[in-house]
Amino acid sequence: MRHVREDMGRRDRVQWPSVVCAPMVTPPVSATGEPLCLLTVHAHPDDEASKGAPTVARYHEEGVRTVLVCCTGGEEGDLQNPALREPGQPFHGLTPEQEKALLAQVRPRELEESTSIIGFHAVHMLGYRDSGMAGSPANEHPDCFHMADIDEATGRLVALIRRERPQVILTYNDDQTGYPHPDHLRVHDISVLAFDRAGDPDWYPEAGEPWQPSKMYYTLWSRGRVEALHEALLAKWGESPFDENWRKRPSQDHRITTKLDVARWFWARTGSLRAHATQVDPTSKWWFGLDDDETARIYPWEDWILARSVAGAPSDTAGDGVLEDDLFAGLRAAHRVTTGGGQ
Ligand SMILES: [Zn+2]
Repeated sequence: MRHVREDMGRRDRVQWPSVVCAPMVTPPVSATGEPLCLLTVHAHPDDEASKGAPTVARYHEEGVRTVLVCCTGGEEGDLQNPALREPGQPFHGLTPEQEKALLAQVRPRELEESTSIIGFHAVHMLGYRDSGMAGSPANEHPDCFHMADIDEATGRLVALIRRERPQVILTYNDDQTGYPHPDHLRVHDISVLAFDRAGDPDWYPEAGEPWQPSKMYYTLWSRGRVEALHEALLAKWGESPFDENWRKRPSQDHRITTKLDVARWFWARTGSLRAHATQVDPTSKWWFGLDDDETARIYPWEDWILARSVAGAPSDTAGDGVLEDDLFAGLRAAHRVTTGGGQ
């Protein structure tokens, strides 16, 4: 619980000035007058912390509605923080079965803390069981995400898209050779299908009024980011957790369409990762080897690949040969000039 109070304190410190100083914020709207909404699809509790948390925090602060769809409950996750097994800690002296049972109780609370730190307006569980790693027995559990009928799973996501009406969806890459977890592959598969089906009245007629999202982006850890962090960690610690295997992964940087400046929002990543206290070792240099200010100086961006768009190519929304700097580029209502000072 110590982490919770620390993280909430940090969140208050960062967000309080913007609440006090900012004029009344009217939620931003699309060119068709709909409130802007960003929906992210993730596989397990803690994925929302490690992938794209600063991006979501940035849009939340702007007043964009932010929605998380978490496909599984993370039932197969192990305790990743060995300090919690020390005397006086909640996992001390437990059998592996008791550890699993306690994790099942704790992880929903961790997700709640994490998402409140990042600033999600809504969190929807898709309701599947964690499939575990490929080849493990959990992979064949009848309730697991991997075993679910693809049309049925897509239908659950379509129902949420029609209810939330997001213009922009964030999901996992079509190339996951670096970490082919069955649940992560599934997130990609149902997201692509749901993007195409949510606006089609012939699909899932019982699942609400059709709504066509405008854009879908894939997340990635860009080569540029990995190299920059690797060099900075080497300089600071004399060693780096990014080993040869990581650095040999094929670069996808040529696919990047969108580079978001998130320098002011790295606290969302750090705070939400710490909220997942059973899943993230607080001494890990992988996660915490650089502090937020150092990360912001070294690589202040999150990179995204525009994978689907009914709003045109990035060259239409950001200008020829230029990367987008906004996920809602090309979708926003034209800027209204206010005269100010009126009664
Ligand atoms: Zn995951």
